Amino acid sequence: MPRSIVAIIILLTACVSTVPPPDAPQQEQGAHVDGYIPITWDDATGRLLIEPRFNEQMIYQTSLPAGVGSNPIGLDRGELSGTHLVHFERVGPRVLLVEENTKFRAITDDEPERHAVEDSFAQSILAGFKVESTRGGRVLVDATDFFLGDMHGVIRRLRDTEQGSFALDKYRSAIYVPRTKAFPRNTEIEATLTFATNDRPGPLISGVSPVPEIVTVREHHSFIALPPPGYTPRKLDPRIASIGIDVYDYATPFTAPLEHRWITRHRLQKDVPLVYYVDPGVPEPIRSALIEGASWWSQGLPFEVKVLPPGADPMDVRYNMINWVHRSTRGWSYGESVIDPRTGEIIKGNVRLGSLRIRQDVLIARGLGADDKTAAEMALARIRQLAAHEVGHTLGFDHNMAASSSGRASVMDYPAPYVKIAADGKLDFSEAYAKGLGAYDLAAVRYVYRDDDDAAREASLFVKDSDSRPVSGAHPLGSVWDNGSDPVQFLAHEIEVRRIALEHFGLNNLPDGEPLSSLEEILLPLYLHHRYQLEAAAKSIGGLNYTYAVKERGVVAPPVRQIVPAAKQREALTLLVSTLDPKFLAIPQRVIDLIPPRAFGFEGGIAELFERRTTPVFDPISAALASADITISALLDPKRCARLIAFHEENAENPSMSEVADKVIAGTAGDGAISFSVRALLAQRLMELASNENADAHVRAEATEALRRLAASLDVKSLALREDIDRFITRPAETRKPPKLPEVPPGPPI
Ligand SMILES: [Zn+2]
Repeated sequence: MPRSIVAIIILLTACVSTVPPPDAPQQEQGAHVDGYIPITWDDATGRLLIEPRFNEQMIYQTSLPAGVGSNPIGLDRGELSGTHLVHFERVGPRVLLVEENTKFRAITDDEPERHAVEDSFAQSILAGFKVESTRGGRVLVDATDFFLGDMHGVIRRLRDTEQGSFALDKYRSAIYVPRTKAFPRNTEIEATLTFATNDRPGPLISGVSPVPEIVTVREHHSFIALPPPGYTPRKLDPRIASIGIDVYDYATPFTAPLEHRWITRHRLQKDVPLVYYVDPGVPEPIRSALIEGASWWSQGLPFEVKVLPPGADPMDVRYNMINWVHRSTRGWSYGESVIDPRTGEIIKGNVRLGSLRIRQDVLIARGLGADDKTAAEMALARIRQLAAHEVGHTLGFDHNMAASSSGRASVMDYPAPYVKIAADGKLDFSEAYAKGLGAYDLAAVRYVYRDDDDAAREASLFVKDSDSRPVSGAHPLGSVWDNGSDPVQFLAHEIEVRRIALEHFGLNNLPDGEPLSSLEEILLPLYLHHRYQLEAAAKSIGGLNYTYAVKERGVVAPPVRQIVPAAKQREALTLLVSTLDPKFLAIPQRVIDLIPPRAFGFEGGIAELFERRTTPVFDPISAALASADITISALLDPKRCARLIAFHEENAENPSMSEVADKVIAGTAGDGAISFSVRALLAQRLMELASNENADAHVRAEATEALRRLAASLDVKSLALREDIDRFITRPAETRKPPKLPEVPPGPPI
């Protein structure tokens, strides 16, 4: 150790993991801090020395405590990156930080068997350090360069999001001493890092960084002691939405599965509640809403929510955190966990809630005609639900996108506001979002935290995220931002809600002091109010009811696989096609007359507006096309069409793809500018389907036939479109330059 360092030993009090520990005292110049991995900060040279622990596995976790504030880039404040199982290894003058391979293992006491698997799969050496001192038998290494590196992957993210080719500038980077601390079971090290580029930076980073070419963030490194023995991994059941880990265990008998599928969960200690801490940076009344929503989990397990005490560090792994994250635009919220990769035990829950989303809920409520008080109440109800949802992820639960169909059975679904129609025909927001855990959540808690296998059999329907999020999904009840046990009937309800709100839409929807052109951004979510429920209802067409059924004691609970009844498919089709009617798509002239071109000073900063070909004038035809495209794209989805053909083949009662196409063609007939444009849109989407290289050959052929029938149905007023279709059918596709259609505004998250 260099002489210049005056070592000041700061003794830390031992802490009990369930009680908030006292924070490490502020370090002084030239400070040595004992702790899990002792650290020594040399203020004179800016070097950080660490004293590695040898012959011990530990968890190494990286994160980003200070980010860039852009949802499309990512790199949020509080973002977790990799969790690594590591150990330090000394080889002469060097110390290596080795990441072990946790996916491929041999879980056995037989050492040669373990080594055979260890040597069969790659390890990753994350860092090499030079030994600086071995005085008194204590090995000290200089780790400054490692901590001034980009383990979080900021450079890669900026490149992948096309924001430029940035490089780390060591001269503008330094250890961030206030957040570099050591505790008995973890050591926390943070660095301020500056990334610079000579390129022209992309628009996203230019929008959020004071100097677009120079981006400074902070990256954090945690070395965490492994939890004590005594945790038992629990098997994953496909009927319970758990976040799982997969381990390939080469020590299993060859007649048994190689793969262990384990859930992730906290270890519960008898009579000791799990404690989550809310970021003290959350303002009221949002803070109380977060605490209330997160506390719903106490309905199922011993659980408490508190505000993080002053001086405590949210990046300290001993705190389960609910962070409040600011970005320049609205974005998703996340619930992530630090997980022991050996067992699936959750060591720390870390929630990031985007602060701007609540404003979108206010906008949705305003569009529907709610007054300010009602809009605020609805947005806070959403925040309570969101807090419970994201905390749910950090308790080990995954999405159940079918829960809305079983009486809002889970906070782990994506909820749409349930707006009722009162007897007097007015909209009622009082039950917009559910309160408390649902029946499915309570069953999931029983399975995960009480080891109750019966809970998996008794839980209501579960449809996983990847089956529900795409519009191509097959399960009629697996959808996002939807409501109701019958998605088709509920679409009819949402169409009526939209009609009522549109009928009353006007100056009352706009707060005082706002320019009239801002009516457009309030109109947009209302005009597209049906979009999510429409996609949910579309899933009945070519749809299949199924469960992730498991054979138990020789039997299986139905339904394993059941095509949606033909009548229900046709009911959905009729309702979907009704949204292509000009009567549905037309914006009342009274409303159009209230929307002038964008006001001076209000041109930018709006995330969602309709595209326009009539710039600077508001374009109701582009709005109609955006809406119609949601319907047509859902109906002509290549996978849906392939299922229509297959299910019609199984049973001729089921609607065929040509029946669906004909219904859509008939639905776009009619005079007027909207019908004209929607027909051209339909032709375009059919041409894309007919030439989609990933689509089934039968689907492509059916799409070509549908184009022929569409062309034949056109009268002289649509001669140009007819010729366009003829050219597509008779000439190679590449000779045709497709028109650029208006893009559908992004929509989620809401
Ligand atoms: Zn989620």
